[in-house]
Amino acid sequence: MLEIACESCGSAVCRYQKDGPGNLRRMYLDRVSDPKVSLDDKGLFCPEGHWLGVKIIYKKEDRPAFRLFVDAVTKKIVKG
Ligand SMILES: [Zn+2]
Repeated sequence: MLEIACESCGSAVCRYQKDGPGNLRRMYLDRVSDPKVSLDDKGLFCPEGHWLGVKIIYKKEDRPAFRLFVDAVTKKIVKG
C-alpha cells in the first residue's frame, strides 16, 4: 500500500494498492482508497489545487485510471 501525496505541497491525496513493479504512472480508480480529493473529475488535483494527472480509460483493461504527470506525486510505503 502506498500513501500518495502532492509533490508540490505535500498534501495527502489518497492511498493506492499498486499492482506490479516499476514507476507509478497510472492509478487505477478501483485500487484507490481513502481519497482526500474528488475522483469524479477529469483531472486529479491535490487538496491545495495542484494538478496531478488526467483521467483516462486504460483501454487494454477497460479500467478508469488517472495518468499521473511526471514527478507530480510522492509515494510512501505504508501498511495496508
Ligand atoms: Zn499540492
